[in-house]
Amino acid sequence: MSFLKTCFCRFIFIILFSGITYFNISCSQKPYHTTSVILITFDSLRADSLSCYGYKRRTSYHIDQIASESFLFQNTFSQTYFSGPSISSILTSLYPISHGVIRNSISLDDKHVTLQEILKSYGYDTAAIVNVSLLGHDFNYQQGFKIFNYVKGYPVKDEDSGEWYNSVFKNAAQLLKLQENNKFFLWIHCNYTHASYKPPEKYRDLFAKDVNIDKKYLHYRELIEAWNAEMLNKEDVDYARSQYDAEIVHADELFGQFIEELKEYDLLENIILVVTADHGEAFNFLKGRFGMVNTFMMRSFVCHY
Ligand SMILES: [Zn+2]
Repeated sequence: MSFLKTCFCRFIFIILFSGITYFNISCSQKPYHTTSVILITFDSLRADSLSCYGYKRRTSYHIDQIASESFLFQNTFSQTYFSGPSISSILTSLYPISHGVIRNSISLDDKHVTLQEILKSYGYDTAAIVNVSLLGHDFNYQQGFKIFNYVKGYPVKDEDSGEWYNSVFKNAAQLLKLQENNKFFLWIHCNYTHASYKPPEKYRDLFAKDVNIDKKYLHYRELIEAWNAEMLNKEDVDYARSQYDAEIVHADELFGQFIEELKEYDLLENIILVVTADHGEAFNFLKGRFGMVNTFMMRSFVCHY
């Protein structure tokens, strides 16, 4: 097994460490040193909210399509429940106690070798598009990336074309246009499935009509305050969940547009595409667990190769 292949498998295995059931990447004869890699991490995307993991709601049409022709891992667990530590583990293959990012807002030390630095040393072009400042320059996540873009704000839809602009996926697709047949590693981090649970207007009623809606707890912090004050009821929680699920539908749509771009550039069948999350989301408000608290949650993981 080549060094690069070993490193890539190490990276894959650390993501899956707690729950791997099967991974047979060696079955392929494709040479790894010439294969481009795209890693997509959705923030706070819990596996059992995706249709391909059996969720009752149709939340993830495009991810399902990719999953149907991919390795779909059933038991993958985050190393921690915060973005910074979890992403640091994904990029370094180290536990938080080893890379030192044990909570958000701690810089990833230069001394740690990242996946992108390894790939760069093998001649890969490296680029990242993130829309979470905690994963930006301020905390040294740009190390090893030739291009590192931070996309601020939320996507905006062009009503004529139906396309979403200012999204990490749109930004990433524009980078692909600049690609000149070089092997590359591209990391996309998307927080459109993160609280607050406020999907664009047209998605808000997708799953909410079967819920007795009390909209006074729409905002994440209002939910926390109401939970602390023991004022939340099941309908409130159901409504928050319906909006989280609607966020997933929206993020999945953006993901689907990106997949179409990959097909347009004839890339989808010639790359390793990894789709996962930094951690899940608890939603057990009524049982004393809220948001990303006190549990390592199962996250989604799809590897298309
Ligand atoms: Zn996160």
